[in-house]
Amino acid sequence: MIVIENATVLTLNDADDVHFGGHVVLMDNRILAVGDGPFTGPIPASADRIDAAGMIVMPGLVDLHYHTAVGKGLYDHVALRESLERFWYPSIRALDADLAYDFALHGYADSLLAGVTTVNDMYRCLPDLARAADAAGIRAVLSNDVALEEHRLDQLSDAKEAFGACHGTGDGRIEVFVGIEWLPLTSPELLQEAAELARTLDTGVHVHLNESLDEVETVRRRFGVRPTEMAFDAGLLGPKTVAAHCVWLSDHEIDLMRQTATSISYNPISNAKLGNGIARAPDMIAAGINVGIGHDAAESSNTHDLFEIMKFASLVQRADRQDSMLIPADQVVRMATRNGGRALGHESGQLSPGRLADVIILHKERAMFTPLLPGDRRHVYSHLAYAANSSIVDTTIVDGRILVRGGSLVEHDYQELRRRANEGLKILMKRIDLC
Ligand SMILES: [Zn+2]
Repeated sequence: MIVIENATVLTLNDADDVHFGGHVVLMDNRILAVGDGPFTGPIPASADRIDAAGMIVMPGLVDLHYHTAVGKGLYDHVALRESLERFWYPSIRALDADLAYDFALHGYADSLLAGVTTVNDMYRCLPDLARAADAAGIRAVLSNDVALEEHRLDQLSDAKEAFGACHGTGDGRIEVFVGIEWLPLTSPELLQEAAELARTLDTGVHVHLNESLDEVETVRRRFGVRPTEMAFDAGLLGPKTVAAHCVWLSDHEIDLMRQTATSISYNPISNAKLGNGIARAPDMIAAGINVGIGHDAAESSNTHDLFEIMKFASLVQRADRQDSMLIPADQVVRMATRNGGRALGHESGQLSPGRLADVIILHKERAMFTPLLPGDRRHVYSHLAYAANSSIVDTTIVDGRILVRGGSLVEHDYQELRRRANEGLKILMKRIDLC
């Protein structure tokens, strides 16, 4: 049992309860109790008691669109297609089991330190990512980069094999979805087969859609429809599908997302950095679509810090539409927690009894939380969305296991993980002839 007391508790539950001086109690991998004041139930002597005075307790963050990182800072000034063709595809073709493991373990550790408890990672070498997620302790939904065979990425057979080998491992923390790279590398038949495979396996789908105008035009030229229309026609959309980016959605495509209850990962920093544009997030939300938040890849966001991305997610819409009411603080915090959990079908993203024990504890007594009116919930949300960054993360708990405490990894030496990731990058760059 873990008993967290004296905290400002942001539950993100249906009533959006906030308890000032409240408690959260975790038993095994579930939340046992949440409420005002101290916990009054029985506490065994073996319980881990955390005095969270001066701290905020809230659900862990869900990074809804994620690629294990290899080349942060190497291609900062090129467009999407060029970055894919010059670096991303060569680098993921040159992976091996050890590199994939080292890159993933470093990325997951970095995310845990930033308060992220779940990643939705599309990458390759899924058994090695699963090993890394198991070692890191993070909750991970993994998917392959499936494309037509000529592109030398993954095939649906890889997804099927990975599902058999990895789905449900790590005490159920690790799942496998069917991943589709982007539609210019696919065909209608491949998308239909992917949808069929996901149905047969009873699992989800992770797909890039409508990320750039170039993608929309390429798909229109080649297939006569827009990307989201093509995905809809193939039966790929649905409540278990996460569509990433969706920057250039037509009204019709927003309606297709709504009709099919597809979730969208809004990745505003990646979209801005690659010059792809600004997603119509307020229109998606107004249509009732479940919208979460993702960093995409460290190549395109240069960070795993979802606090940074929350801030940008809100502000870029206000700048674009000259409207300071858009995506308020409590909404963007909800997008990065509860909406992400819902998109992945997880019982996470809110502190309510029976939900998964994916919880973070944040320092409130830092300059970025000053001044702070006592007992003012709006102020807490505001500082989280607009003032904070990941340096406030003290503790990260996934599935009831404390993985970060006092701002450091409990089970790993971060410097050693960094060293191995840096070594791996050198090997990879040589392999793809870039250094
Ligand atoms: Zn992506």
